[in-house]
Amino acid sequence: MSTQERTSIVWDYAPAPESPDHVRLRDSYGLFIGGEFRDPLDGERVRSMNPATEEPVAEVAFAGERDLRAAVEAARAAQPGWAALSGLERGKYLFRIARLIQERARELAIVESMDGGKPVRESRDVDVPLAAAHFFHYAGWADKLSYGVGGRAAAPLGVAAQIVPWNFPLLMAAWKLAPALACGNTAVLKPAETTPLTALLLAEICQEAELPPGVVAIVPGDGAAGAALVRQPDVDKVAFTGSTAVGKDIQAALAGRGVSLTLELGGKSANIVFEDAALDQAVEGIVNGIFFNQGHVCCAGSRLLIQESVADVVIGKLWERMGRLRVGDPLDKNTDVGAINSREQLERIEELVTAGEGEGAVRRTVACELPERGWWFAPTIFTEVAPAHRIAVEEIFGPVVSVLTFRTQAEAIEKANASPYGLAAGIWTDKGAKAFEVASALQAGVVWQNTYNHFDPSAAFGGYKESGFGREGGPAGLRPYLRVS
Ligand code: NDP
Repeated sequence: MSTQERTSIVWDYAPAPESPDHVRLRDSYGLFIGGEFRDPLDGERVRSMNPATEEPVAEVAFAGERDLRAAVEAARAAQPGWAALSGLERGKYLFRIARLIQERARELAIVESMDGGKPVRESRDVDVPLAAAHFFHYAGWADKLSYGVGGRAAAPLGVAAQIVPWNFPLLMAAWKLAPALACGNTAVLKPAETTPLTALLLAEICQEAELPPGVVAIVPGDGAAGAALVRQPDVDKVAFTGSTAVGKDIQAALAGRGVSLTLELGGKSANIVFEDAALDQAVEGIVNGIFFNQGHVCCAGSRLLIQESVADVVIGKLWERMGRLRVGDPLDKNTDVGAINSREQLERIEELVTAGEGEGAVRRTVACELPERGWWFAPTIFTEVAPAHRIAVEEIFGPVVSVLTFRTQAEAIEKANASPYGLAAGIWTDKGAKAFEVASALQAGVVWQNTYNHFDPSAAFGGYKESGFGREGGPAGLRPYLRVS
């Protein structure tokens, strides 16, 4: 039977919206300081918007300078008592937080999607379960700290200031808080301006878990609040996830102060497809690598390197697969690609895509109906990309993949490493030896083989070069929160 004779299957999906009805958000949230929600001293109240509807979800207090000082003071006051608890006792609190995240999983997933625009399928299946898993994982480490640092004596650093971005608001909060608390530190966490809500629900969970007051503070705020937080004189540790530009600013601000610093910054990760790979499987991995969370992923496989001999086949299959991605309502359980997180981010994506076209790369964007309100960008692929093009070098942080080709293994490695970043990489091949050889030559903190964007709380995550330093996850994630002697 020729392909023309086969019945074509049209996948029609009825809408399957997740109802936000049972979500009990407050109209307005205070700052979580000293174990209670407080009115800001010198901050303001701001509405957090749903990027899919441009409607407010809830009002949130933003911290001012005095609020930040109060949060750090409360964390400082709570730290000796928290550190004095046995590791077993601290672990019990973390375990409780993990269980409460699981109990409120549906609510957290819906709020994450409403506040940030990501498909509820991802919030439900990835963000929330992984956030709980991080607390479970570090609950287990709390009474075994010295085993995590090669049998040496380990003591907490003190008060940690933690700043997280808008792409994985709850998950990044878990990545930061769980190891800090397990090690006996207290923490002041600033969520991103556009996505503060699930961190505030996590504050409620800390209350429900009866975490001692002051051990965790959640202080939403804008970039200026982040800058002020890292400059507070009484912090011992700063942990930041976000853009390389801000990471550099923080590093400069902390220079000479003896404050421990972890930076998890941007990336332009290479996803390398060799001719001997299982190509259909690779295409699924490419899709997951770049269209997961609208490409708002620091380790997104945004530079697709395909061996020349299979480039046309892979691009053909990828384009066909892209056409089947469903873009739209983040609360619909069928949605693959949700809303862009903010107007500013949409403008950034559009600017870089325009630059790509201007520099001569060939753009193809999936034709799909986009909702009238909200911020959207349809899945896009660029071919004929030269290594010097901006779209091959700069982090687009959107659903846009740039394709480059290579002929030999050596050329693949050279092109993959030709980046100021070094966060992650993917290798698609059916030859195990080749995968190991290439992986050991790549300058990337995480290398996935025949998979992509695969996260586990027991695995270390972090970068090289301009992607930052320090590791999060697993026993390696304890070290940045401990003084080891
Ligand atoms: P930022 O780096 O500005 O934001 C990350 C966090 O840092 C947010 O909580 C932010 O607050 C805060 N912040 C902003 N300025 C400062 C400062 N001077 N000192 C301390 N904290 C600060 O990222 P953007 O949201 O502006 O995104 C810009 C680009 O950065 C994106 O297009 C993307 O390329 C990249 N990015 C990379 C991320 C990653 O995980 N690697 C994550 C997010 C962005 P606020 O939200 O209020 O601005």
